[in-house]
Amino acid sequence: MQMYYTRAHRLKRRSAFLSAFLSVILATHFAFSATVRPLKISHRARSLKPGEVVLMTVRSAMPLKEIEGKLLERAVPFFSSQDGRVWQGLIGIDLDVAPGTYGVELNGTRQDGVSVQAVRRLRVKRKWFSTRRLTVEEKFVTPPAEELERIRQESETVGSIFVKVSPERLWSGTFLRPVSGVATSSFGSRSILNGQLRNPHSGTDFRAREGTPVGAPNMGRVVLAADLYYSGNTVILDHGWGLYSYFAHLSRFAVSEGELISKGSLVGYVGATGRVTGPHLHWSMRLGGARVDPLSLVAALSGVGG
Ligand SMILES: [Zn+2]
Repeated sequence: MQMYYTRAHRLKRRSAFLSAFLSVILATHFAFSATVRPLKISHRARSLKPGEVVLMTVRSAMPLKEIEGKLLERAVPFFSSQDGRVWQGLIGIDLDVAPGTYGVELNGTRQDGVSVQAVRRLRVKRKWFSTRRLTVEEKFVTPPAEELERIRQESETVGSIFVKVSPERLWSGTFLRPVSGVATSSFGSRSILNGQLRNPHSGTDFRAREGTPVGAPNMGRVVLAADLYYSGNTVILDHGWGLYSYFAHLSRFAVSEGELISKGSLVGYVGATGRVTGPHLHWSMRLGGARVDPLSLVAALSGVGG
């Protein structure tokens, strides 16, 4: 084959290529619009604000083999509940996400091999967080020098857990509240401890007496059950697909690391260990790395079957 061309040849080849390319696009476009309705996308959330969980549902007239979402360079896994025609995925909007419009890119493959794409835009609104002022033991505001290495190691351990995305989805259906007590502290509130500004509260606190049983909100594997400097006796449950529950300040554990526990089963007991003002349950969650309010997940999935 001739390996070099005159300029005219090149232009001719280029335009031939372009028109072939365009006709493929047009053919696909018309085939697509003639035979398939576009994907129908809907979402459900308490609100579209930082710290909220969004349940996205994709409906396709033709069954899909698979579909995956992508938001801010992170994969959003979807599962099918009805023979490949209805797919759902959970999206976490991190506590620090700036207000604005974000596109969730959806890429799927139909069972006949044809690929389908869509983009769903989510408009994230501004959220105003309240400020809470607490008085705690001084060692929890300015830890003594000899504890700094322990604190650093613990934060590394917890951080390395949250970056893992376990391939198996263990959670299903609705999420249960771990205790029946009312939620006393709003997620994301700015915390001033002994007069000093600290990290925003990335969980929800529940009023409960010391010794109240704490139930697993959904199925999960115990990936940590340990005494941590700030959060006291802590249990982390891996629900799979990048979703984690974190329970802090327990008086006692009822599970050990590595155990697989079912929805509603006993995790431990409410206590006042670590940085607290009194006995309560702290529950925080991570979803695909995002810090989200557990109660927004409970709300997004309420009334969902399974
Ligand atoms: Zn808390």
